[in-house]
Amino acid sequence: MSTTHRPRSEALYAEALQHIVGGVNSPSRSFKAVGGGAPVFMKRAQGAHFWDVDDNRYIDYLCAYGPIITGHAHPHITAAISSAAANGTLYGTPTELEITLARMLKEAIPSLDKVRFVNSGTEAVMTTIRVARAYTKRSKIIKFAGCYHGHSDLVLVAAGSGPSTLGIPDSAGVPASIASEVITVPFNDLDGLRTALDTFGGDVAAVMVEPIVGNFGMVMPEPGFLEGLCRMTREAGALVIYDEVISAFRFHYGGAQTYAAFPDHAAIEPDLTALGKIIGGGLPIGAYGGRKAVMEQVAPLGPAYQAGTMAGNPASISAGIACLDVLRQPGAYDRMDAQAAALAAALQASADRHGIPLTINRIRGSFSAHFCSHPVTNYDEAQDTDGERFAQFFRLMLDQGICLAPSKYEAWFLTTAHTDDDIAATIAAAEHAFSVMKG
Ligand code: PLP
Repeated sequence: MSTTHRPRSEALYAEALQHIVGGVNSPSRSFKAVGGGAPVFMKRAQGAHFWDVDDNRYIDYLCAYGPIITGHAHPHITAAISSAAANGTLYGTPTELEITLARMLKEAIPSLDKVRFVNSGTEAVMTTIRVARAYTKRSKIIKFAGCYHGHSDLVLVAAGSGPSTLGIPDSAGVPASIASEVITVPFNDLDGLRTALDTFGGDVAAVMVEPIVGNFGMVMPEPGFLEGLCRMTREAGALVIYDEVISAFRFHYGGAQTYAAFPDHAAIEPDLTALGKIIGGGLPIGAYGGRKAVMEQVAPLGPAYQAGTMAGNPASISAGIACLDVLRQPGAYDRMDAQAAALAAALQASADRHGIPLTINRIRGSFSAHFCSHPVTNYDEAQDTDGERFAQFFRLMLDQGICLAPSKYEAWFLTTAHTDDDIAATIAAAEHAFSVMKG
C-alpha cells in the first residue's frame, strides 16, 4: 500500500497557525493526542472518500464525528441544499419545511411531543437543562463521567472525548459556582446514582445521559441501567434528559430510546431529548424536544427563554429531511451493520494474530477499538487504554489512506456509501499496521 505524503497540509497548517487559534476550529481536529504536527487538510469529499490538498485519497471513518451517515455529497441531500439555497437561505420567519422535519422526528421518536430547532448539539443540550430547571424549579444536574454534552459551562465537567483527549477534563473558565451545580457519577453505576440522588435529590433538576455512549468509545448501557435511571430520577422528582446528539438515527431509524436492544421502551422514555448531527444531513443543526407540559416552559408559551437567528434555516432543515429520506430506505441500516460487523471481526482477528490487545465495542454500524484487554463499560476503563498504541495505529492507518478520528475515545462510523472494497482495503491496512506495531 502506498504511503501518503502531505507537504501542502503541512504548509497550510503553518499558515493556519498564524490566523486561527491552534490552527483548527475545533480542538478535536488537532493531532495533539496522536503525536502532534499538521492535521490533514481536506479539499473534497464524495461518498465514503476524502481527498486532501496533496491529492491523497482516504476512506473516511471519521464521518465528521457522526453527522455524515449517507456518505459525503449524497445526491439527494445535495439537491435539497441547492434548492434551498436557490430559494433563499434564511428568512427569520416560520417555514413549512420545519413542520415536515419536526413531524419526521416525532414519528421516529414518540417521546417528542413538541420540538424546537436550534443550531448545534451544544445549544440543544444547554437548553434542555434550562427547561428542566424552569420546570422543576431546581438547579443541580447529575451527569455521567466521560459523557460529552457539548461545550456549555455546566456540562464541561468530566466531559469525555474532546476534552479528555487533550487532557482537559474540567475546562478553565467555568466558575466554581457553576461546576458545583453538577454531580458526576460513573456510567452504568446505579448505586452511584442512588447515592447522588439520596444526597442531592431535592435540588436535582435533571439527570442527563447519553443513553448509548459515543464519547468514551461506543458503550451500551448494561441491562436495566436506563430503566433504573429513569425510575430513580422520577422518584426524586427530577427529569430525565437523553443526549441523543450522536445516537439518534445512528443505529436505526429512531433514537437509542426506541432501539430494539431495549425491551421496554416505556420504561426508558426520557422527559427531554437533545438531538443534532445526523438530523441536519451535514449542515449545522440541533433540536430538543420532549413532553408537552415540560416543553411548554419554553418562550413564547412559557418563561424559559431560548431563541436563534439561524434556527430552523431552510438549508439545514432541507438537508435534514433529505438525509432522513435516505435513511428510511429499506436495508440502509442493515448494510452498515453487516459491513461494520465484518470490519470489526477482521480487525479483532488481525490484532489477535499479532498479539495486540484490542477490545472492540460495536453497535450496529459504528464501533470503537480500544487498545486494552479489558472490557470498556465506563469512562475509567476507557481511560485505562493504551493511547500511545492508538497514536501509532492512527498514523499507520492515515499513511495508508484510512481516516480515523485523532483520539482513542472516538468511534469509527460507517455510512451507506462505504463499499465492500472500502472494507477490504481497510482490513488490509489494519493488518499491515498491526504487523508493524508488533515489531
Ligand atoms: N452531545 C453529544 C453526545 C455529542 O457527541 C456532541 C458533539 O460531539 C454534542 C452534544 C455537541 O454537539 P455540537 O458539536 O453540535 O455542539
